[in-house]
Amino acid sequence: MKIADGNAVEIDYKLHLGDGKIVDESTADEPLTYIHGEGHIVPGLEAALEGMSPGEEKKVVVPPEEAYGDRDPDQVQEVERSVFPADMKLEAGMQLMAHGPEGESLPVSIREVKEDKVVVDLNHPLAGQTLHFDVKVRTVRQATEEEKTHGHVHGPDGHGHDHE
Ligand code: ZN
Repeated sequence: MKIADGNAVEIDYKLHLGDGKIVDESTADEPLTYIHGEGHIVPGLEAALEGMSPGEEKKVVVPPEEAYGDRDPDQVQEVERSVFPADMKLEAGMQLMAHGPEGESLPVSIREVKEDKVVVDLNHPLAGQTLHFDVKVRTVRQATEEEKTHGHVHGPDGHGHDHE
């Protein structure tokens, strides 16, 4: 079966930013799983995977506009120190997870810590980067109706996670 819209796909991947240094990768126990055609992975990678079969490997280079977009200088903002817990130690270079309006996780980088202000960067850490993926397709199958409703792939025993 080839990768097409509505398929549950399992891939192994490595990601580097052009210098060969791996910044992210799946593990043997935890391949990346997603439902194809739903925009759950970066658009440039999703497009490149279309039509691939299990066992196939590919190198995919994805420019920022088909990945996490360009860096937006307006996303670098100064906020009050008090928005962070008082006992939290803040340092330039730290990355935190904040929660967006719909409960989604938003990575936040600390750029600078001033006396009572903190400069945060809300750009995705990979914004402005060209992504270099090494991918290998493991399995491709039709997603179940339940998986399509949930928007994610379930493990071999059904749910590998909790739903409320
Ligand atoms: Zn589910």
